[in-house]
Amino acid sequence: MNRKLFLLVILVALISKQTYAQNLIINGGWVFDTSTKTFEKNKGIYLVNGVFGTGSEQILNWEVFNLTDEDYVLPGLIDLHAHYRISYNQEAYDDTVAMPKIFLANGVTSTFPAGEIEPEKMWDLQKEIDANKRPGPRILHSGPYYGTAAPDWNPDFTEKDIRERVDYWAKRGAYGLKAKGITPEHLAILIDQAHKNKLTVTGHLDSGFRNSVNPQDAIDMGIDRVEHFLGGDLLADTTNAYYSLKQLDPMDPKLEEIIQLYIQNGVYFDATLGTYGAIGLVDSPIFFDWAYERQYFTPFTEKLIEGIKPSDFNALCAEIYPVKQGVLKRYYDAGGLITVGTDRPLLLDNYLGGGIGGFFIHREMAAMVEVGIPAAEVLYFATQQNAEALGIEDRAGSISPGKWADLMITKGNPIEDIKRTRFVHTVIKGGRIYSSEELKNAAKGKLGPEK
Ligand SMILES: [Zn+2]
Repeated sequence: MNRKLFLLVILVALISKQTYAQNLIINGGWVFDTSTKTFEKNKGIYLVNGVFGTGSEQILNWEVFNLTDEDYVLPGLIDLHAHYRISYNQEAYDDTVAMPKIFLANGVTSTFPAGEIEPEKMWDLQKEIDANKRPGPRILHSGPYYGTAAPDWNPDFTEKDIRERVDYWAKRGAYGLKAKGITPEHLAILIDQAHKNKLTVTGHLDSGFRNSVNPQDAIDMGIDRVEHFLGGDLLADTTNAYYSLKQLDPMDPKLEEIIQLYIQNGVYFDATLGTYGAIGLVDSPIFFDWAYERQYFTPFTEKLIEGIKPSDFNALCAEIYPVKQGVLKRYYDAGGLITVGTDRPLLLDNYLGGGIGGFFIHREMAAMVEVGIPAAEVLYFATQQNAEALGIEDRAGSISPGKWADLMITKGNPIEDIKRTRFVHTVIKGGRIYSSEELKNAAKGKLGPEK
């Protein structure tokens, strides 16, 4: 080989070494096996070029990462209702400064933003994260909302307008779409066109009041997932969903009908339970025993939050919370498909209780366990089942060869105490290792407007 060519080969080797993540073996500790929903002794986790390997790869220089017996490894968490949104002074924007670091620090390696306020900005964020220019979870784009929740929504959109909007964002690489504030006519078109593009649709729907859509009708149209409310006849369409839900008796035998409709159609339900407890200022250690999150706000934002007084909405959520608890438990007992999402935009024009998205996934999981769902099931929902619900189970959801090398490592067994998922200390995404503490430190004082 001549000298010039030799140098070129060395150069290419150096560049590609930087492009690819390290080849790594993780030894020791315990690993969550999504097929048995138990922690097994770690027999070696192999990470090769950003995906999980089998260990049979021809690699000369494995890096080795040794864990202790106190370390518990989980597939990276997936948040299917992961808002980056901040609202302040009647204006909304997506935060790309602190939110991405806070999600990743908490073991959330994949986020479905469930309605992007500034889709272009979110696409730029994703590109920078993917190029390792800044740390953050995977952005599994939802694209903009479909419905009045989108700043650019026009209630007079024609069928063609909606089909084109779907095609446009599907082509851009959306992973699924989200409806909020949509009419029945528009939703039917959205679902049809999304399915033509092999994308799932989820919806923040309502009771059917004032030309809104009751989830029961959305299921008949073929919706894939539903957020917040199960719907059905018990959610009366004579008032909006929140007021209707407040009056619902979770023990009412008629609830069985809507639960069975979900099961028969394989529709996933994302209860976003915890956020109602937090907004309702419910007195539970789930919501109030780790108030360290204030340090993430900018000084201006912290002052702003201190000045916001609780409103009627907080009182309403306090009434809704026990209803949602009862409904979710019945839905679980009947065998309904559950997903996990946080729904914690930072809405600074309202008082929305403690808890930042990112940290909140641990609360959501703890809230599910509190109603009586086994912790092992909840861990499964937040990983493998969430991946299946979004249709990415070939790439995410479990520690299996060929899937994205995404995982989190926490101290102590979360099946014995779900709150231990909070003690995540190391996160690996695409084979790249992140210290939770470093990510958190980089986000402190950065969340929310500066002035
Ligand atoms: Zn939401």
